[in-house]
Amino acid sequence: MKAAVVHDFTSPLRIEDVPKPEPEPDKIVVKIETSGLCHTDIHAAHGDWPVKPTLPLIPGHEGVGIVESVGQGVTRVKEGDRVSIPWLGYACGHCRYCVSGWETLCEEQLNTGYFLPGAYAEYAPAFANYVAKVPPNVNPFDAAPLTCAGVTTYKAVKVSGARSSDLVAIFGIGGLGHLAMQYAKIAGATVVAVDLLDEKLALARRLGADYTVNARTQDPVEEIKKLGGADAAIAVAVSPKAFEQAYRSLRRGGKLVFVALPADNFVQLPIFETVLNGINIQGSIVGTRLDLQEVYDLHAAGKTHVILETRRLESVNEDFEEVEKGQVQARLVFEM
Ligand code: NAD
Ligand code: ZN
Ligand code: ZN
Repeated sequence: MKAAVVHDFTSPLRIEDVPKPEPEPDKIVVKIETSGLCHTDIHAAHGDWPVKPTLPLIPGHEGVGIVESVGQGVTRVKEGDRVSIPWLGYACGHCRYCVSGWETLCEEQLNTGYFLPGAYAEYAPAFANYVAKVPPNVNPFDAAPLTCAGVTTYKAVKVSGARSSDLVAIFGIGGLGHLAMQYAKIAGATVVAVDLLDEKLALARRLGADYTVNARTQDPVEEIKKLGGADAAIAVAVSPKAFEQAYRSLRRGGKLVFVALPADNFVQLPIFETVLNGINIQGSIVGTRLDLQEVYDLHAAGKTHVILETRRLESVNEDFEEVEKGQVQARLVFEM
């Protein structure tokens, strides 16, 4: 089968013919229909993070497709079902995190397109218990970005505690950000969208942002403070500077949610102001299987809009560049 493969962190991906996966016990093989390009895939291919992926690597954790075969012991899904394969590819199911609704923190987790083969391929293997069932009224193109960008920002807005009277600032209107702002609107909040590019801000306004700030030409801290300061800020821009601005845009008692994972791993934040202003800082990593089901349900109910452009896997290297330069509207999805 055809797949896009990372062999080392400094060379382009190669489109190759690799062996098709076989259905092992507890696993399934999915014939991939669509596969979203998350900025995480770019970090994986570049080895940007402190923990490196297993090489050679097939990236992709927004894969959607049809179950082609099931391994021994699989009862949860059957051949012909449409499923998605999220970042949380496996968790142990019995640790303190797994049993308390925090499976995303399981120390035995395995991540799709990082430690497990991902969905930049014609077929992908998956643990049957960790795939999501895609409802019939969510099309496979929209389902792909919802599987990571959607669930991650839905969860980030949940943990931000955003309520109807709140001002929520979203830093970075990319794949994640264009959905983050929609979940904040669904929670009833007033939304400020911040990005460096006017096209991203125009999109944010079309999707219902109440205010927009171009951080290249305006100071987002000043602009958000003029509005009273943010009750919550969600950092989905791949830049530590945006995290620092998001921090400083908060009102007293506000909460900053760390979501993006820039290669440059550190921010500088003041202790004194954090203490005196009662600021909360929380990290948020993807979402649970239940969060993902809720994301699909909201979409099926017509409450979210996924902005995507389709590509063929052959253009993956150019597509990575386009995303890095901010030249895509929101999300790219490979049509397999
Ligand atoms: P993306 O490239 O689609 O979007 C990033 C956006 O940030 C772009 O619109 C860009 O113009 C904007 N931006 C860049 N610098 C900025 C700045 N200084 N101020 C304001 N905006 C700025 O990326 P994505 O796919 O949305 O992913 C974003 C990040 O989130 C990546 O680092 C990715 O690895 C991470 N991520 C985290 C999780 C998680 O669970 N925590 C899940 C998925 C992705
Ligand atoms: Zn992702
Ligand atoms: Zn566990």
